[in-house]
Amino acid sequence: MWIDSHCHLNHERVTPEDTPAMLAARAREAGVSGMISICCQIAKEFDGLLEMVRPLPNVWCSVGTHPHDAGLETEKAVTLDELCAKALSDPKVVGIGESGLDYYYDNSPREDQRESFRKHVRACVQTGLPLIVHSREAEADTAQILREEGGGKGLRGVMHCFSSGPQLAKDALDLGFYISFSGMITFQKADELRFIAKTVPLDRILVETDAPFLAPVPHRGQTNEPAYVVHTGNYLADFLNIDREDFAAQTTENFFTLFNRAKSA
Ligand SMILES: [Zn+2]
Ligand SMILES: [Zn+2]
Repeated sequence: MWIDSHCHLNHERVTPEDTPAMLAARAREAGVSGMISICCQIAKEFDGLLEMVRPLPNVWCSVGTHPHDAGLETEKAVTLDELCAKALSDPKVVGIGESGLDYYYDNSPREDQRESFRKHVRACVQTGLPLIVHSREAEADTAQILREEGGGKGLRGVMHCFSSGPQLAKDALDLGFYISFSGMITFQKADELRFIAKTVPLDRILVETDAPFLAPVPHRGQTNEPAYVVHTGNYLADFLNIDREDFAAQTTENFFTLFNRAKSA
């Protein structure tokens, strides 16, 4: 069985007739036994997200501000203490994020992104919960903030939907982080990403969909859903020359080691 370490079950692009419960059921049928539905806006989204995952077995959530939303006054108003309190408020909350830096879209001012990212790293150090990092075209700043705020302080986390270069992969691994690969790895042009995947120790790899975005081949261009993480996992297992079932077991074990608050039902 696989785990989808990163999806957005409540995203508006998800067709209304597909409820989160239906998506989770379809995933289970496909061999995906659990998933984290990731938070992007604390003020607007977190309470509803927690209520959504509460009745769903093996569906967990996170709490955090996406770098796209880091400039919103409502997100800037969330203090470090409030973030920590929400993160520890319920056993269904298993991680902090997604937070980080996105200098590709620059949807929020970079200074706001960095400030928000530092707050999230501090919250992880304080609570012991793992950090879910989103980084795009911001390699040096991402590594610097992780080191400055988290180095030597027991910080744990994952570089989600990894799409950066080998230097950030190395920096993240040196910090003890996991690397999560999405459907992007199945795309024809992803040679550099596949090259990096070969350098990640097997006990540090996670897989994810980032649904509803980035559906893997053979569903590329369609609305993604957690069930499709099987395609990404099988593809990566074949590419790395590992038995598919062994790779599923390994990535699932990695998931529960990192997200150690997630208890399988
Ligand atoms: Zn992301
Ligand atoms: Zn995401």
